[in-house]
Formats: sequence, structure tokens, C-alpha cells
Amino acid sequence: MNSEYKTPGSFFLIVLVILTLFSIKSFGFNLTDDFKEGFFWQNLPINLSVVDDQSFEVERISNLEWALEQAIAQWSLEAPQLEFWRADASVAPNTTGVNIVKWDRDFALSTGLQGNQYLAVTVRRAVIPFIAQVEILMNAYYVNLPKNDLVKILIHELGHTIGLDHSEDPSSIMSAAIRLGPYSNQSIQTDDMAGLSYIHTEMGSRQAGTSSDPAYWELRKTQEQNSSTALPSCGTIEDINKHGGGGSGSFLISFVFGLLLAFCFGKNFHLGLIKIID
Ligand SMILES: [Zn+2]
Repeated sequence: MNSEYKTPGSFFLIVLVILTLFSIKSFGFNLTDDFKEGFFWQNLPINLSVVDDQSFEVERISNLEWALEQAIAQWSLEAPQLEFWRADASVAPNTTGVNIVKWDRDFALSTGLQGNQYLAVTVRRAVIPFIAQVEILMNAYYVNLPKNDLVKILIHELGHTIGLDHSEDPSSIMSAAIRLGPYSNQSIQTDDMAGLSYIHTEMGSRQAGTSSDPAYWELRKTQEQNSSTALPSCGTIEDINKHGGGGSGSFLISFVFGLLLAFCFGKNFHLGLIKIID
């Protein structure tokens, strides 16, 4: 234990190479289950529109619009060459087929999350093998948060839209808990950028059909098997999640039914809760 020796520089080089090769392990970032299963965005950027719900004060909506632009800008500042998101013009409530960011008064109902410790949830919907649409639901209980806090929340939720899950690094913006307030300096970290960069590269190979990820090819097979299935009127899987809290029997039924729906229509994922610590 007390022997002293000089570690050759090449040793560090080898360690560095190994860490680089296994960068997923060396960082705290994580990928969402759907991304791990092979799902990906077919086209970038992801255009996002704030829902202009006139039942809120004008300022609450304009703060959200401002925060969305800032959040996109902050990711872009770190990686100017990667254009993942773009802020589009606002849309009226109940506009379908677009990616939205909205204040949600029925947050508990929409997400199944009781209590007000959750700030926001990102819902990703997919049509095999693509992530096809996202909704960022902002808990309206926090509608009066300062603009800068909204920016932090949205940076985090944007990460979820592309397949970043919660990081194990507590300083990361993708950490499950976000520190709010003027003294919080939580921001995009190296760990977050490593995650973004990993997704960018892997998404590129999936788009090009050159991915070496076996999950991606499994998913493509599933897509081919289901290519003749009619898509519309499959209902939604959200209701199952909402009411799926029964016993194991009902869970199984929900699960099987959910699988059927998943094959029929696509999949619905809602993950990405963030809590407040202070
Ligand atoms: Zn989250």
C-alpha cells in the first residue's frame, strides 16, 4: 500500500481512451427508455410552440415564450453546431400535431402526479420508430415563478424531448432536482453536453440507418411487422397510465392493452419529472 512509483503518462492516456470509449459510464447522464429502445427524431430541429392560453395573464404566456427562446439559446451557446430546437409562433389551445409548451392547470390530472413538488413533465409520443411529438407540461401552480427559473426548467425539459433522462450528477441541469431562485447557479454542465453529443451522434446514425445499436434494429423489425396496421382511432395510452394504479390483474391488463396500443398507434412516454429542492 505504501509503495511509491511513478505512473507513466501513457497510463493516463490509456485510462482516458477507455473513459472516452465508455463515455456513457464515465458520465452521469442517462438516456430515456424510449431512446434506449431505438426511438429517435426523424428530423431536426424540433419546432416548439407555446400555447397561448388566454385564461392566463398575458405576461405569464410571454414569460414562457421568452424562457423557451432563452433555454434554446443556452443549449445552442454550448453547442452552436447542433440545432436541436427552434421556437415557433405560439398556437391556440387544442392545436394538434405540433410540439407544445404549455401552462397546465390540470397538471395532476394530466400527469398522474399528485402534489405540487413537480415543476414540469415532458410527454413524448412516438410512432415506431420515431419520436413524433412532444408536449412540455408546466405545472401552473408555479405560474408566477421568475423568468430565469422558467429558463432552467425549460433547459431541463428540452433535454427530455430528445432522449436525455435524469443525470446522476447533481450539478447537471438534467439532475432530477432543480434548484430555483436567484442564488442557484445550476446550468448546463459537461455531463449534459456529453449526453447531448452522444444523442446527436447516435441519432445521426439511426437517421442514416447505420446505427450499431441492436435495439434500433429490433425496433425497425417491429416497424416492418406492423407496417400494414391502420393507425388512427387507437385511443390513447395516457388513460391507462392515469387509471392503471389497480391491482396486479388490472396492471397486467393495462400492460397488455398498452402493448397492443403501442403496436397499433405508437407509444406514449411520459417521464421527466423535476422536483424543487428549495
Ligand atoms: Zn426531468
